[in-house]
Amino acid sequence: MGELLRDKVILITGASSGIGAAAAYVFAREGASVVLAARREEKLGVLVAELNDKGFEASAVVCDVTRAEDVRRAVAQAKERFGRLDGAFNNAGVGGDRTPLHEMREEVYDAIFETNVRGMWNCLRAEIGVMLAGEGGAIVNNSSVGGLVSIPTAAPYVASKHAVIGLTRAAADEYADQGVRVNAVAPGLTRSEITADWFARNPGLEETIKAGIPQGRTAAPTEVAEAAAWLLSDRASYITGTVLPVDGGYLNR
Ligand code: NDP
Repeated sequence: MGELLRDKVILITGASSGIGAAAAYVFAREGASVVLAARREEKLGVLVAELNDKGFEASAVVCDVTRAEDVRRAVAQAKERFGRLDGAFNNAGVGGDRTPLHEMREEVYDAIFETNVRGMWNCLRAEIGVMLAGEGGAIVNNSSVGGLVSIPTAAPYVASKHAVIGLTRAAADEYADQGVRVNAVAPGLTRSEITADWFARNPGLEETIKAGIPQGRTAAPTEVAEAAAWLLSDRASYITGTVLPVDGGYLNR
């Protein structure tokens, strides 16, 4: 067991699968008590039971990040159950269709912005309020390499992830002198439900993408979670408002 997040209480949104579920394990192994938020109650229940079986502190809260009330409840649950909120990994997000911009349906745009941008804003509002009333804290938002450069046929997703970086910078700036750090990770292609769905619907896409990654492979969800864990830890105490790519060298090429 590591010490990186010892005694910290950390909320993870989108914890029911992929990067969020990996983060639950990584943060717990580093000593954190984790509160897992997502819409799929059954998946969260299984994860919490597995973590508890291993002796880790974990609890689940059903939460749709597009609903401010749900997010407030998740934050309140962290406080009630573990006494405070030290950190949050705002990871919930959706990918949507891969379609040329001019053919993209309005519902897809709305769903992506509702979750990835409004959801993120809801999380920041609720978490920062509680952290300011407590002893401060650290937040990591999950953007994407698509928050820094374009991903073809994913315009609304790219725009939403650029917006996540905008929210990260604005929040970091506003609360830097009040004990709250806010950073983002920008993962490259990571093996998860989002990407499995994209690849199933777009044959050849995975190989094309891998060919453009200097390390020649996609990320394991755990590799993104490790970066988030470090940014959430006190070892990153002088880092705020930054975006850390976790991309196998993709943006460097
Ligand atoms: P998954 O689909 O496995 O995970 C997405 C998570 O978000 C699920 O736990 C889902 O849970 C949750 N979620 C979706 N909508 C909502 C909502 N309205 N309220 C609460 N939770 C929600 O994919 P990933 O692990 O890949 O995605 C995690 C994050 O990583 C996303 O923000 C994604 O954009 C980002 N990312 C992923 C990359 C990749 O290549 N996989 C690359 C760059 C960034 P539930 O359905 O139970 O609510």
